Amino acid sequence: MENCLFCKIAAKQIPSSIVHEDDDLLAFKDIHPAAPVHLLIIPKQHVATLSDTTEAHTAVLGKMLALAPKLAAEHGCAVHHGVDGKPGGGFKTLINSGPDGGQEVYHLHMHLIGGPHPWRGQH
Ligand code: AMP
Ligand code: ZN
Repeated sequence: MENCLFCKIAAKQIPSSIVHEDDDLLAFKDIHPAAPVHLLIIPKQHVATLSDTTEAHTAVLGKMLALAPKLAAEHGCAVHHGVDGKPGGGFKTLINSGPDGGQEVYHLHMHLIGGPHPWRGQH
């Protein structure tokens, strides 16, 4: 898709801090991090919003979701379970969709936001 920022990032026409790449997905650091860990997971193939996905996207949507906890673990914000059984750590996954959903870049992306209570005062 011409003039799509994240297509250009996926094509390496615009530099980014890539943290994961496979045949279907790219993950890179958000340029304006809202928390100590703030990554974006995108499908390499352009789709503008979650509302534009069809059954043909089910597999790639599943891959995006499955990648999140792996990247969270690599970046130190996995959910962990203490000896008392109480969970600690953690991260937030977020897909903004459309103007009312706060979407600014119209290439589907999932935010992975980690750190202590990253949702307080952010997003
Ligand atoms: P959204 O509001 O969900 O569309 O989020 C778009 C996100 O893309 C924002 O958090 C921006 O900081 C981020 N962003 C914009 N341009 C770039 C870029 N060139 N590299 C990395 N992240 C970017
Ligand atoms: Zn695109």
